[in-house]
Amino acid sequence: MPAQIIDGNALSRQIRAEVAQRAAALTARGTRPGLAVVLVGEDPASQVYVRNKVKACEESGLHSVLERYPATLSEAELLERIDALNLDPAIHGILVQMPLPRHINPHRVIEAISTRKDVDGYSTLSAGELMTQLPGFRPCTPYGCMKLIESTGFDLRGKHAVVIGRSNTVGKPMALLLLQANATVTVCHSATPDLGLHTRQADVVVAAAGRRDMLTADMVKPGALVIDVGINRNDAGKLCGDVDFAGVSQVAGWITPVPGGVGPMTIAMLLVNTVEAAERAAR
Ligand code: NAD
Repeated sequence: MPAQIIDGNALSRQIRAEVAQRAAALTARGTRPGLAVVLVGEDPASQVYVRNKVKACEESGLHSVLERYPATLSEAELLERIDALNLDPAIHGILVQMPLPRHINPHRVIEAISTRKDVDGYSTLSAGELMTQLPGFRPCTPYGCMKLIESTGFDLRGKHAVVIGRSNTVGKPMALLLLQANATVTVCHSATPDLGLHTRQADVVVAAAGRRDMLTADMVKPGALVIDVGINRNDAGKLCGDVDFAGVSQVAGWITPVPGGVGPMTIAMLLVNTVEAAERAAR
């Protein structure tokens, strides 16, 4: 039987509606949740991403500010802007769109964002909070993947989960979140010699390598839950993930499509983190 499709568009709409309710309740009490999105330079993909984030804020009743700067902005000037946003009571979340121009050190910038406003969850403090299971902001993409898994009713306890990819923003936090949900976790990466050896034993596979068709049907255990984080283009220029959807969907139990899977959830979880930041500030 073909896999059940996990619909990220539908789930993200539901989550955004909940965010809108929380935002309206906070606004009625005098605190309208606010997100500042900072874009430095002219990267075309980044321009689309920031526009989508700002639009999503507006649709859920959040206040949003888009600050755009030329690629010539100095690191010191950017850090000054972040300091000002850290102190701005109308702003509860700060997101600096990556990548930054080469002359700006992204780590210094991320660390400059107040932990209370780090809604991307990229700072070392937020990473430490995740590692030690303290409350804090979880990186939006893996957080969204967890919500997709939860939406199926799949119980992760005692299951074997394989994460493909070990980036600080997706693979590693994903592995930690799965671990916290009591899965037994294997992390595979570019130096893993036989990927299929691991994925064939997995009840859950999260593919986050950025390599199209990397996960094929013969690498998936029948009935497994497959989350496809990858964003790639096929030969026809169409968006596709890391998973050979046509083949794997004949073997897996559940699967996320690309587009319409993880992508919309990443934005939804950014809104969740921002409204959460505002609720904490209003306490
Ligand atoms: P990255 O380039 O930082 O990391 C890729 C990881 O994949 C690395 O850890 C590397 O070791 C591993 N890898 C590469 N080739 C491999 C192989 N052949 N076998 C096993 N592992 C391999 O990328 P990232 O930022 O973690 O993003 C991963 C993918 O997810 C990209 O396609 C990116 O565009 C996408 N992404 C999507 C969303 C979304 O919202 N849908 C958000 C973030 C990232």
